[in-house]
Amino acid sequence: MQYFDHAATHPLSDVARAAWLDAAARFPANPSSPHRLGARADRALESARERLATMLGCSPVEVIFTSGATESNNLMVHHLAQVLTGPVLVSSLEHPSVLEPARHELLERQHLIPATAAGVVDLPWLEARLHARPPAAVLLMAANNETGVLQPWREVAALCRERGIWFGCDAAQWVGKLPAAGLGACPLLTGCAHKFGGPPGVGFLKGPPTLRPLFRGGPQEDRRRAGTQNLPGILAMVACLESRERELAAGGADSRTVWRDRFVARVQQALPGTELLGAEAPRLWNTVSLQLPPRADGRRWVVALDRLGFAVAAGSACSSGRDAPSHVLEAMGKIREDADCVVRFSSGWETPESAWETLVNEGVSS
Ligand code: PLP
Repeated sequence: MQYFDHAATHPLSDVARAAWLDAAARFPANPSSPHRLGARADRALESARERLATMLGCSPVEVIFTSGATESNNLMVHHLAQVLTGPVLVSSLEHPSVLEPARHELLERQHLIPATAAGVVDLPWLEARLHARPPAAVLLMAANNETGVLQPWREVAALCRERGIWFGCDAAQWVGKLPAAGLGACPLLTGCAHKFGGPPGVGFLKGPPTLRPLFRGGPQEDRRRAGTQNLPGILAMVACLESRERELAAGGADSRTVWRDRFVARVQQALPGTELLGAEAPRLWNTVSLQLPPRADGRRWVVALDRLGFAVAAGSACSSGRDAPSHVLEAMGKIREDADCVVRFSSGWETPESAWETLVNEGVSS
């Protein structure tokens, strides 16, 4: 089976596996325990916090370790709902782990930011709104999980900074695929390990020392997130991210962008009428969302490709289903018939160009 669903989860990398096994053997104790073994685990935890803060460009006291991006996003929204009274603008392209807690906790204080047909948040609309009726906070992801389209988070962070508005960024799909430098300038930032080859069940939130907790019942993470830290997972995440940053510095994203574009060109040649979603916008090197022509045999593309040995996704892994287009496709103006033919192909760091070629020859055009 050829795996093209890395946007849902990236297989564990060799670096992460080695770091996890090493940590599990060397640090058997709880980092909160009072004995020397506990203190040793705590030192390893704090050193991981410093290494992650260095990559993000923030202070280690701002880094909180969590169980993943869903928890981090819930925590981010919970904090804003607790400390702010004014409206919060939330991009309509956000992952459900931002949209649903926002709807639940902010109620009528939440307002959606529209998107363009290219799958980018509508920046002129947002600028006009920030000028006319400044909100208390803005939430915008760094890269979209369904289309791979990069969002103007740097511009929006700067606009919010100038106006003293809170800004929160879900960077789960960006971290480990594009350089992390600069992300730490976002007042609130979330990410997770399993999107770039770290273990599942580990993530982080960059936030203020005064962050309002969601979990209570323990002193961990400066009382901002109760519960024993997943030390092997955290050390594996940080080691893996450091290795991805080195690969990025060596140009690893550039060659893979070329492979991605060759794949799209080959599919468009084999299947005329194929539409690349977000074609006009910058996109992640690993994610391609295509609206393919309907199949002659009437089968869904995802099912047909699965039978041919290719694991791909229809839109987001969290909201697949054929009854309605995903909220992202809807925000881009797609109707149900279009959405039924949208397939997301997502590669990983270890996917060679030959796998993209096989996907065209033995999958999409067979
Ligand atoms: N945010 C984005 C953009 C995602 O793509 C995902 C995962 O699909 C999440 C948040 C949730 O991450 P996790 O699986 O770590 O809870």
